[in-house]
Amino acid sequence: MAATSFIRSLAKAELHLHLEGSITPATLLELRERQGKPGTLAEVECLYRYGDFIGFLMAFKAVTEDLHDADDYELITYRLLEQLKRENVLHAEVYVSVGVCLWRKQDFFSIFEGLERGRKRGEQDFGVSLLWIFDAVRQFGPGRAQEVFEIAASLRHRKVVGVGIGGDEQKAPPELFRAAYAYAAGQGLRLTAHAGENAGAESIWGALNLGVERIGHALTAYHDPELVEELAKRQIPVEACLTSNLRTGCCARIADHPLRQYFDQGLMLTLNTDDPGMFHTSLTAEYQLAQTQFAFSNEHLRELARNSFEASFLGAESKLQFLNLLDAVPLRNSN
Ligand SMILES: [Zn+2]
Repeated sequence: MAATSFIRSLAKAELHLHLEGSITPATLLELRERQGKPGTLAEVECLYRYGDFIGFLMAFKAVTEDLHDADDYELITYRLLEQLKRENVLHAEVYVSVGVCLWRKQDFFSIFEGLERGRKRGEQDFGVSLLWIFDAVRQFGPGRAQEVFEIAASLRHRKVVGVGIGGDEQKAPPELFRAAYAYAAGQGLRLTAHAGENAGAESIWGALNLGVERIGHALTAYHDPELVEELAKRQIPVEACLTSNLRTGCCARIADHPLRQYFDQGLMLTLNTDDPGMFHTSLTAEYQLAQTQFAFSNEHLRELARNSFEASFLGAESKLQFLNLLDAVPLRNSN
């Protein structure tokens, strides 16, 4: 379903977005052609099919295997900003799977130059602001996460704002990463974590105990009313990703998703795409889904958009500038 003009014109920020997961099949084909690997779109699209969460993690890894050098990373960053402009996403905080780069023994500092070239060109051409969040793969263990966080700390002066952990929660609970998070906090990095995506509420409690400032997904929080109360009381931003949860099978049916329940219980909710290229979604599609499936009014959606700026890691002045743009769109523009 096409998004309404209100949703399209609403100024939005996106806070849970993986650069590698934003690669569309067409761009992946282009990356392969650059490597002299002939192929068809149909072949590439096969990579984007999987049956469950672990299958999705494998597909994500397979997509990263076509990223070779700084130029590849520059291209996908630029394409992402181009896409965000179309969605009227004015600011994005973008995960880079630095853990995967290190595992593949890539020279990350060289890759980072490509990322920054893409960001600067994209910001200039599309006016979209971007901050980086470096993501560690939790099943690679706390030592690897520490390496990722140290690289993040060394690039803090270059738009790297925070760190996170993603991957298979069941293989590596948050408690393992206490020292790495304490280190990152000490370096002035902002803290996020995927939690309650493919594990229960205890994983979200664990993330809170690490001092994280935003929770990625929190899909399973509703099993624990005390936790929901805590998230509401502390106004911990939740990065909800509707289509992602359905596509990975973490949520069986859209009707089972706790999005509306969280909103009604006063949680600070934001809407996100997670991996728009891999899930064939966009941020406007996620807003539309919230309206169609969960009866969010335009006023509610504006509140979610407001949350996306408030919960960002931008400075106070930048937040205010974006919020003024958000308030400029009339509420009654609904089709
Ligand atoms: Zn994610």
